[in-house]
Amino acid sequence: MKAMLLEQYHRDLKWTDVPDPEPGPQEVLIRVRANGVCATDLKMMDGMVPTVTLPHILGHEVAGEIEQVGSDVPGLERGDHVTVYPTLGCGYCDACRHGIENLCLAAPRTGFEANGGFAQFMVTRGTNAVKVSRDMPFDEAAILPDAVAAVYYALTQRAKVGVGETVLIVGVGGLGIHALQVARIAGARVIAADVVPEKLQAAKDLGAHAVVNSSEGDLREQVMDLTDGLGADIVAEVVGGSRVTEILKQSLSCIRIGGRLLVLGYTYGEMLTVDTADLVYGQWSMLGTRASRLQDVVEVARLAESGQLKPVVSGRYPLEQANQALAALRETSPLGRLVLTS
Ligand SMILES: [Zn+2]
Ligand SMILES: [Zn+2]
Repeated sequence: MKAMLLEQYHRDLKWTDVPDPEPGPQEVLIRVRANGVCATDLKMMDGMVPTVTLPHILGHEVAGEIEQVGSDVPGLERGDHVTVYPTLGCGYCDACRHGIENLCLAAPRTGFEANGGFAQFMVTRGTNAVKVSRDMPFDEAAILPDAVAAVYYALTQRAKVGVGETVLIVGVGGLGIHALQVARIAGARVIAADVVPEKLQAAKDLGAHAVVNSSEGDLREQVMDLTDGLGADIVAEVVGGSRVTEILKQSLSCIRIGGRLLVLGYTYGEMLTVDTADLVYGQWSMLGTRASRLQDVVEVARLAESGQLKPVVSGRYPLEQANQALAALRETSPLGRLVLTS
């Protein structure tokens, strides 16, 4: 089969022949139809993710059709549409036994330590293939396990968002546009912050109760005006990038007493600094959060199928043009996900 192969760091991916993957008895072979493109793919191409070994097939947001089912995989059939939960939990550690596979220390991940979906076919464990409705477009299904489930897990499991709480989403990008929808579904009041008017309009269209343009005035002042001077119960930072330290400083200034900071955007080597007095007197919780549980992927699939949540795809490229999509992601910050189709 053909794949977009990462052969060398800091180089373009190469459309090249690789061996056909063969599913084992508990695995399925998927004909790949769509891949979300994520900032973590750029980190891997830059050699920043130490667990990746070359040559490697990227792609951890994959959807496709089941092509072949292993002999020990019940409940899936050839032709089923699936999205792929990327964490291959060991199944035996405390984290896996509690269903929090994204904390498993021994888990390879599709597109990281295991080959991913930037290829014509891929293999995964049958349990990791989550069936979705045939009515759901593949590009939307592809972005459920990461761009959608990661923020769903962050808000519902990590921050335990409650009805009537105020959630500030800092950054309306591929994660933020879904985070605001999840917070709304959970019954929270949502404020979305960004510097791009079109993104703020999209945030409103998808249910943000208020939006603030942080280039048109101090973020803290605007958030305090919207919250009777109290601040937000939950502040979710979903930007990352080279300015993440400064963005986190602004984010912290918007937290209400007793509030929580959720950090999803990150950059290797960039620090989060917090005044220890603010932390203690504010009784803040600081929560790093990554990926999701299998259960979260199943739940966001059901929310998307029922129309309560809209996976937002803002650009499509053929798989063979993955380098163009990755370059576009590096240079801009798209509203939703860029997706590779095949
Ligand atoms: Zn990702
Ligand atoms: Zn485990």
